[in-house]
Parts: sequence; structure tokens; C-alpha cells
Amino acid sequence: MNSLIPFFSCTQAEYVEKVLFLLKKGGEHAKGLYSDGFKKGILDPNASWIEPQARALAAEICHCTDMSLPEISGSLNEGSVSKFLLKFADGLESESVLIPMKFGNTLCISSQVGCRMGCAFCETGKMGLIRHLTVSEIVSQVYIARFVLKAEIRNLVFMGMGEPFDNYDAVMQAISVLTCPTGIGIAPSKITVSTSGRVEEIYRFAKEANPALNLAISLNAPNDRIRSKVMPVNLSWNLDELKKAMQEYLKHPRREILIEYVLMGGVNDSQESALEVAEYLQGLKVRINLIPYNSQSKGRLVAPTEEKMKEFYNVLKAKGYQTFLRKTKGSSIMAACGQLGNRDLKKKLGAKSSLSLL
Ligand code: SAH
Ligand code: SF4
Repeated sequence: MNSLIPFFSCTQAEYVEKVLFLLKKGGEHAKGLYSDGFKKGILDPNASWIEPQARALAAEICHCTDMSLPEISGSLNEGSVSKFLLKFADGLESESVLIPMKFGNTLCISSQVGCRMGCAFCETGKMGLIRHLTVSEIVSQVYIARFVLKAEIRNLVFMGMGEPFDNYDAVMQAISVLTCPTGIGIAPSKITVSTSGRVEEIYRFAKEANPALNLAISLNAPNDRIRSKVMPVNLSWNLDELKKAMQEYLKHPRREILIEYVLMGGVNDSQESALEVAEYLQGLKVRINLIPYNSQSKGRLVAPTEEKMKEFYNVLKAKGYQTFLRKTKGSSIMAACGQLGNRDLKKKLGAKSSLSLL
């Protein structure tokens, strides 16, 4: 039935509106059912708060609601980190990673199957873009972690497969659903969207997004020469343009940017590079995460040495930046940053770089 209301792509107001449009009644009950669905994980027309005479109406509302979820097609654990695969109706799969941290779980979710940005160091990039995820598919990842895997989610990061700003509208609607206070109710301040530096959407995000949402930018290189080699996005928007967009975003006093910098041995990990990064970021309100390159199935890139990482870190610290050296988690199950990518699918489709689509 195509008149079913897609539960996972609606905020409460949208859900109520759709119920009213379809049934011409039931607004109040739709409100309560929506909250139950997202807070308790169930739509129950016999819930105790529903008066007996309204149960038939509640049943009708449930009947016209589509709460179907993708199946969990696989899961892998390394220590406390777990990766789960979801299989969608068309057979394609996405990957999500649950990472226990000091103050609760961080869930890392995907916004696309594959990615067309073509970063040289990233496993997902090797797949090319297979397709965008829908709002429901993005929200489902959180819902499944919460209600099927029974994990409390403290932080949500769009750092799984895909470039969130290449699927901007779906990602922003998914965030509206996930932050809906009468629904799953994740605080915007606990959500981080990471981009490789799509400047156009950074401006959009600066203008439209709730200022409490967090933005992360994958810088990964100290200058245009190196960045263009490892991140083709830099050929569309160079570091100058990226900096201007960051300045615009930071005009809101509440905001700061998380800079992600993947250290690759012999590529971008020298002290000179660190000084260039410090200079580039001057005047911007940022925190910096240094991430050691996680190796992939194949490739010439290597991880930095401990010593190089420490040196790089020390330069940025000495320049006054709030800097963190991240440890790799989940690398043996290919769940670490940049390692998400479905091998079988990749084999089937071949690695297509879709730079021309930018
Ligand atoms: N597309 C978005 C979000 C997903 S990638 C982006 O690029 O920001 C999430 C993070 O993983 C990015 O900061 C990216 O630079 C990092 N990453 C990609 N490949 C990596 C690798 N092989 N080792 C370590 N980090 C990697
Ligand atoms: Fe895409 Fe991000 Fe990987 Fe680059 S690092 S290919 S933008 S997922």
C-alpha cells in the first residue's frame, strides 16, 4: 500500500498531519502513538493511555503506519566496538558502528552507500557512490541501535559511510526526526555532522542548521598541493574557499568546528605540515582531532609513527590549539574511521571514482 505513512521519516508534527490527511481524525492519538513509537519502540493501540472507545481508531492509525525496518544482515565485534550491517529493501547494505566511550555510547552512522568524493585514504571512497540513503534508512540505524541492540545513545556522529553534505536534504530531515523532542529526542548538541569540505553546503548549514548541532571538517592536509592529491573535493573548493565558509559558519558565537586530520606517514605528518595547519587555522574557533591513518585492504599509504604523531600534536598544542590524539578503535573489523565499505558489493560493482559528478 503506498498510502502507508513512513514513520521513520516524520517528525511528530508531520506524522500527525499525515494521519489527519489520511483518516480525517485521530490527531491527538497519533501524537501519543508517535511518542510511544520513538520512546518505547512500539506502536500499541492497546496502550493503557488510550481510552477503550478510542482503541479502534488507534488501531487504524497503526495500520496505516509503515514501521518496517531493514534487517540486520551482519555484526562484528572488536573489544567493546561493534559494527552492524543493515540490509535495505533493494539488497544494498550500510554500516554503522557503536563505540562505547567514557560517558556513554557514540553511534557512528552512514548517510550513503559508498561515497563519490574519492578520498585516496578512505575505503568507502573506493566504492564510488552507489546511492544516497533515505531519511528512513538514516533514522533506522539509530532506532535499531536503540531498540533492537538496546544501546543508549549519547552521541551521534555522521562519520560512517558517505558524505552527509552530498545527501544534504535527507540528512537534515533525519536530524529533525532524531531531535524531535516528543520522539527519540536526541539533543542537537550531541550530534556531529562531518564533511570533507563541500563548501556550498557548509554555507547552507551555517544559515539553516540549529546552532547547537556540531560540524566537523575533514582537513587532512596542510596545503592545497597535498590536499588536492588526497581529497579531490579540494579541486572544487580549495582551502581558501573552505576557510571562508568556516568563518561564515563561526559567525554564530555558540559554534566551533571540529577539525579532523588523518595523519598519513610521509604525506602530511611532518612538523612543517603541522606549522602550516596551525597557520591555516589561525583565527578560527576549532578543536583538532588527529587520527592515525587506518590501513586498508590495499594501498600505498601507511600509518604515521608514534613519534611523528606526538611531534605533530606537540606543534599544534604549542600553537595554542585544543588538540586530541585519537586512538584507532575497531580496525580489525574494519569499523574504524574510513574503513567502512562492503567488500562483496565493491567487488560486484568495481571501484568507480565519480569525481566528475562533483
Ligand atoms: N564523508 C565525511 C564523513 C565520513 S568519513 C568526511 O569525510 O568527513 C569520517 C572520517 O574518517 C573523516 O574525517 C575521514 O577523514 C576519516 N577517514 C577516512 N579514511 C580514513 C582512514 N583510512 N583512516 C583514518 N581516518 C579516515
Ligand atoms: Fe567520502 Fe568521507 Fe571517505 Fe572522503 S573520507 S571518500 S568524503 S566518506
